Parts: sequence; structure tokens; C-alpha cells
Amino acid sequence: MIHQTLAGPLMREAGVISEEDVRLINSLQNPPPAPVSERDVFVRRCRLGGDAIDAYHGRFRSDDLPKLLAMVQGAPMLIGHNKRSLGVARFFGGIIEEHDGVNYIVPKFYWLRGHSSADDLRVAIDGGLYSEASISFAYEKPTCSVCGEDIRTCEHLPGAPCEKDGETVFYYYDNVVAVLEGSLVYRGAQPGTGFSMSLWKTPTNNLVEMPLNSDDEVRLQSVLRVKRHGKWYRAPLVEEAV
Ligand SMILES: [Zn+2]
Repeated sequence: MIHQTLAGPLMREAGVISEEDVRLINSLQNPPPAPVSERDVFVRRCRLGGDAIDAYHGRFRSDDLPKLLAMVQGAPMLIGHNKRSLGVARFFGGIIEEHDGVNYIVPKFYWLRGHSSADDLRVAIDGGLYSEASISFAYEKPTCSVCGEDIRTCEHLPGAPCEKDGETVFYYYDNVVAVLEGSLVYRGAQPGTGFSMSLWKTPTNNLVEMPLNSDDEVRLQSVLRVKRHGKWYRAPLVEEAV
């Protein structure tokens, strides 16, 4: 299981709340025990994962976007990935929308006007203090774009040019199993938040990033990768004293 985090911009157009929004909120799994009306909630939208290659050389398959949007439904939204705080909002509804030639999931999220800090949150979002939403998700297989194998074990390196056609090697997020949490964050605050990454040393001496089959922590280290008798070996790089 691999954990990954996606971030995307909040979209601040006036949150006109429709009857359909209210219906969707009240029919979430674990719906509000006291059904809400349009007068009870603030609603905004955010653009999350899409089917373009992201900064981590990963990419969703276009066909998987509806499934991802379905998995986001009802997920709580925290502030800055603080798991000790209560969720401040919840995802619901949304659509798959094209933006600059890329398809994205664009879920909505709501929070309650009656909450004592509801207006603070609205001002912080509409005023740009929180500029992005992100979701953490878990998936099983990073499938290599060149050979279709698991890119952690095949000979291709994400972000490096493919020997055959010079195209950049990437991987698909395959078998997404769960959306773990959502968060409101500052743009660019922690680009690696929630990532399990390693830096791999390529034959051309370029460092490229690659997900590890690991936990939530950001792990950046240099690793030497060597092929010998048809098998790949890894070793950490240890700097020698001069
Ligand atoms: Zn491959």
C-alpha cells in the first residue's frame, strides 16, 4: 500500500447552494444526524487529482476519476493535515471537469454556518489564507508507463527520458483503495506532505523521486541503484570523509 497526497486550488466563485447540494449532503454515508438546509451551510469547490502527469511523475487513469470522486464523498477536511483536530468540513458531490486539456475531479465541500468559527473559515478561504485543498489516498500499484510492470521493480525510472522514444517515464496510480483525509493547506507550504518518497540515483547522475512502499513520513534519501546479472540492487549513499 502506498500513501500519496494530492493538492489543488480552491475555487472561490460565490457558493450558491442548490437543492441538489442539500440533497447530496443529507444522503452522504453517515449523513448529518440533523438534516441540513441551504441556510445551514457554506459550500465551496476545489480541483483535485487529474489525469495529467503530476509533479511526482504519477498520473490517474482517466477511467478511474469517477471512482476517485466517489471515494472522496463524505471524507472529512482538516486544517493543515492536523489529525488531532476535528474535521472542519466534509466533501460531497462534485463533477469531473476539464481544465487546460486535463480532466480533474472537482468535489464540493460544506461546513456549518452555525459553527462558532464558520465565518473565520469562510473569510480565510475566500481571502486566500487557505488556497489549496489536498487529499491523502492509498493505492496499491505504481504501474510503469513503458512496460506496465510495477515501477518500483522494473528497469524504468520515473521522470527520466525513455530510451526508446525520449518521452518522460511516469507511473499510473493503480488500484486506489481509499481516500484517507482531506485538508485545507497553504499553497506550496509542504510540497511533500504525506508522501513517501525516495531519491534514486540514476546512471546519468540525476536524482529522481520515487514512491516507497511505506508510511506517511516524508523520507528523502539518496539511493544508488545497480543492475547486476539481471537483478536490481539498492544501497544508501553514505558520504565519505575527505
Ligand atoms: Zn517499466
